[in-house]
Amino acid sequence: MRKINLGDILVLKKGHPCGENKWEVTRIGADVKLKCLGCDRIVMIDRPTLNKRIKKVINLDD
Ligand SMILES: [Zn+2]
Repeated sequence: MRKINLGDILVLKKGHPCGENKWEVTRIGADVKLKCLGCDRIVMIDRPTLNKRIKKVINLDD
């Protein structure tokens, strides 16, 4: 399982309908809350599904 932290930017394999494929992690729990960087829309996604969709994790703290 890929480690993700609050505030990380995730690049997903499939983009949002608005055309953006980068999302900011805004909450982590059983489900992860992501904010689309293109249109600010919030989505909830469960960890197993999210792990399959992640292409790249951009950790801004590194
Ligand atoms: Zn969007």
